Amino acid sequence: MAAAEEREALAGRMMPHRQPLVIEGQMRVCSACGAYRDWVVVCVRAQVWLRCPARHEGYEDRLDTAWYDRHSGPITHQHDSYEDGLRHLGH
Ligand SMILES: [Zn+2]
Repeated sequence: MAAAEEREALAGRMMPHRQPLVIEGQMRVCSACGAYRDWVVVCVRAQVWLRCPARHEGYEDRLDTAWYDRHSGPITHQHDSYEDGLRHLGH
């Protein structure tokens, strides 16, 4: 795969994370509403964003694509758009 295509494929991957998310020993809590589970983890290029059940989004700089790959497993859904992916995950 060419580098450009690879970057494209890496754009906008996402997965559900139903359980509480512990990062470096601390449970991730949404700063806006206090949610601590049922996240959508969005991997956009080298950045990981977290979206809470109330749709607050935040960049999480302690997570990266390596973390995402470790947790996403071999099956990663590809979606036409960010919105399609969220619908697929029920958000
Ligand atoms: Zn929230």
